[in-house]
Amino acid sequence: MSEFVNTNPADFKGVWVFCEQRQGKMMPTSFELISEARKLADELGVEVCGLLLGSNVEGIAKELGGYGADKVYICDDPALETYTTDAYAKALCDAVVEKKPEIVLFGATNIGRDLAPRCAARLHTGLTADCTHLDVDMDIYKQFLRDNSTLPAERIDGLSKIKVNGEDHSVERDLKMTRPAFGGHLMASIVCPRFRPCMSTVRPGVMKRAEFDQAKADACVVEKLAVKIGPEDLHTQVLEVVKAAKELVDLTGASVVVSVGRGISKDVETGIKLAEELASVLGGVVGASRAVVDSGWMTADHQVGQTGKTVHPHIYVALGISGAIQHLAGMQDSEYIIAVNKNDSAPVFEVADWGICGDLFKVVPMLIEEFKAAFASKA
Ligand SMILES: Cc1cc2nc3c(=O)[nH]c(=O)nc-3n(C[C@H](O)[C@H](O)[C@H](O)COP(=O)(O)OP(=O)(O)OC[C@H]3O[C@@H](n4cnc5c(N)ncnc54)[C@H](O)[C@@H]3O)c2cc1C
Repeated sequence: MSEFVNTNPADFKGVWVFCEQRQGKMMPTSFELISEARKLADELGVEVCGLLLGSNVEGIAKELGGYGADKVYICDDPALETYTTDAYAKALCDAVVEKKPEIVLFGATNIGRDLAPRCAARLHTGLTADCTHLDVDMDIYKQFLRDNSTLPAERIDGLSKIKVNGEDHSVERDLKMTRPAFGGHLMASIVCPRFRPCMSTVRPGVMKRAEFDQAKADACVVEKLAVKIGPEDLHTQVLEVVKAAKELVDLTGASVVVSVGRGISKDVETGIKLAEELASVLGGVVGASRAVVDSGWMTADHQVGQTGKTVHPHIYVALGISGAIQHLAGMQDSEYIIAVNKNDSAPVFEVADWGICGDLFKVVPMLIEEFKAAFASKA
């Protein structure tokens, strides 16, 4: 890596997405990131490339074109069949050194969170983790700040240059990577002015997936890259892959999420059962606040919020959840929010489309009966 010079941004071109697959199945976050990369690449006037690592994965490459990839680079090697940090970091860094993209995006999944920092350190560049918003175009970025920040207008208007090593640096072409900071009380926009590529992990479920376009998928160019992974590159060996016995809940893809909070503490078992029944009537899944997960009442894959999952379902039901800023960060973009809380000044009511002030143990059974009756009369 010592010969890799990455201090001249002009040498780097293109927006890349690390396209995560598991056992030959593309992870949904790859499609979301390709869709977002398309917007950024159009602002920069460059190509979108997917980077697909695995063994015998060529068959799933072109689908990425349907969401906006112009090209997919494939690193196909038996050493890449199952994810290991060593093998994936080697293949990805080699590809970056060879092709020099200016931006590389990763999903903030378990694999993305493991791989991205290793690659950023090896390539000697910056990484912004857990982003919730990305921009290149300055006018679009400034509008985002006008709509979402408390910065005064004159500060926003003057935001085009920053000082780097005492000298003016234009951020016009830099990726502006925005993420929550200080427990979600602040949003921080970060640029990586001196090194390339700019790297970022993006929370699954945050970026909207584009409409699939078959013609674009057909037109997508697929190119294999040479993979050079030797025994000296591998410090770990996968002996066995053991799948979790329990299916993890698919919160990000659900159209209805019924979440429970600490308000179920009076009778946890009944509270969860009521949420499950309501979710089943509405055709949804059950989520939870962090208080519920931290108490060990539900597993972490159910957690919605800043350190959990970001969801934007058609209907989000919050049962006994106060509406702390860190919880809202994960659900406030839901289409319709229904909140049940016995405290009429709970902050969750500020984002709710429908608020019911009452004891969830009394309200939810009534909701279940009402929804059942309504669906039965429609049928
Ligand atoms: C860095 C950081 C990251 C975090 N990330 C997350 C995250 O990802 N997700 C998350 O959820 N939180 C997160 N938190 C925690 C967050 O700040 C809150 O502590 C948490 O969301 C509170 O959960 P809750 O609303 O279930 O509990 P509480 O705040 O205790 O609220 C319980 C609510 O239930 C109501 N209630 C009680 N009994 C009943 C009843 N019988 N019927 C109806 N209502 C009732 C109460 O009025 C109250 O409003 C994070 C915090 C930090 C500092």
